[in-house]
Amino acid sequence: SIFAKPTHLVILHLNDTHGHVWGTDDGGGFARIATIVNQVKEEVEKEDGYVLFVHAGDVNTGVPESDQVNALPDFMILSYMGLDAMTLGNHEFDKPFEILELQSKIAQFPFVAANYVDNLHGGPIFEPYIIKKVGDLKVGIIGLATEQTLVLEPIYLGDNTIVNAKETLENYLPIVQEKADVVVVLSHLGYYDDKNPEPNLPVKFTSTNELAKSFRGIDVIIDGHTHSVLDSPVLINDVIIAQAGEHGKFLGRIDLWVDSGRVVDWRGELIPITADIPEDPFIKMFSDMFYQLGSAALDQVVGVTNVLLDGERAHVRSHATNLSNLIADSMIWKTGADVALVNGGGIRSSIDVGEITYRDVLTVLPFGNTVYVMELTGKDLMAVLEYAATIPDGQGAKLHVGGMTAEIKDGKPINVKINGEPLDLNKTYKVVSNNYVAAGGDGYTMLVGKPGYDTGFTDADVLAEYIMYLEVIEDYPSEQRIKYLN
Ligand code: ATP
Ligand code: ZN
Repeated sequence: SIFAKPTHLVILHLNDTHGHVWGTDDGGGFARIATIVNQVKEEVEKEDGYVLFVHAGDVNTGVPESDQVNALPDFMILSYMGLDAMTLGNHEFDKPFEILELQSKIAQFPFVAANYVDNLHGGPIFEPYIIKKVGDLKVGIIGLATEQTLVLEPIYLGDNTIVNAKETLENYLPIVQEKADVVVVLSHLGYYDDKNPEPNLPVKFTSTNELAKSFRGIDVIIDGHTHSVLDSPVLINDVIIAQAGEHGKFLGRIDLWVDSGRVVDWRGELIPITADIPEDPFIKMFSDMFYQLGSAALDQVVGVTNVLLDGERAHVRSHATNLSNLIADSMIWKTGADVALVNGGGIRSSIDVGEITYRDVLTVLPFGNTVYVMELTGKDLMAVLEYAATIPDGQGAKLHVGGMTAEIKDGKPINVKINGEPLDLNKTYKVVSNNYVAAGGDGYTMLVGKPGYDTGFTDADVLAEYIMYLEVIEDYPSEQRIKYLN
């Protein structure tokens, strides 16, 4: 009726938490986030409003204590916090499907991803959308995963795939509009702007910006993937777009006032999860338990370094560092290969001067990748280098090598040497990489189907063993094995 006041709906949102269950002295952590979630619920429900709590994907990968138990503490605690829905980030595909399936069973909330489908029949693997009833209001939540996963995490898609997000939404939006008063898209597509331009990937993908531009009838997009700190939501084509940075440093909050199925007013903000926020005692206890259970193995000292081993994101995505060389060399040391190929984006952290623990190594190489050995001809290696020569600085596909040197001139590889000898196009070389690159990840599709085998060793274990063998790293060469001449 015209006398009824609009319904107040609050959406709390997280994205890209990447194993960051545990806060630090600087803040963050699920135990603090829970306190805010409970406060907001109490405040809003007291005034007859409603709260939904959602996660826009990438729960997995980034903190050893979480990674080693397949993010189960993350899913259990998010469930306890009353999460209503989550969509799938690309990092939900870092491990085999069985793990994702297990996570979906442990989570007490639905995985919502309309475009994650069965290769054969095209049917959704989890929920394409859900309709949440809060009071008299029906809220439709459609989930979308990024097509970038086909390049970024291709290994474990298996019998399933991620199809075009826009075409998928064309199918589902009318259905959900019909059933719901408010339409929320829970998206891991990513928000791009001048500060964070779209990557140049060998696959066509939909951004959240493009999605918002292309449809009428979406009220809100809760986004993830780009780790964007959108202090206040961005409006594109009247669609409210929100994203809450990364690692639970912020909890996003959007307030909507809905009247007769229309959003009549709104506001949005990011709530910083500061250190002064009290920790929920149960979550603190429960998460500490998981931390302690994992610590003995992770605290093991594997060696000492007297030089900073440089894994700084911008460095390893533009040129060789001592750490990229060390990682490539560890793979050759373990397998006796002629050449090692390492993607810069797979190197996720530096190692500080001092004792190196197994935790440090897992922080550098968190993906649980295995070491993969292939037989490649000199011609195949040239194809790898020709592709690598096209990778702009800043992209994860930037190539690091061991056992090989080359120069890139005018965008073409020249002077390629294998262990000091000129490359022989017709010779067969033993080449080692991680299973991610070997499966065509980061655009190295020329490696797909090459003869080879998985050693089963994880890249992190191989690096840890190599450091154990070196004992003390006084210094490590950071020579540019691939030299970009212009
Ligand atoms: P998000 O967590 O939102 O995906 P991200 O840091 O992973 O953020 P990017 O900065 O685009 O996203 O990094 C993607 C890069 O990470 C890829 O290009 C690749 O180099 C690397 N990467 C991702 N998954 C793996 C993996 N399983 N093994 C090795 N490298 C990976
Ligand atoms: Zn992420």
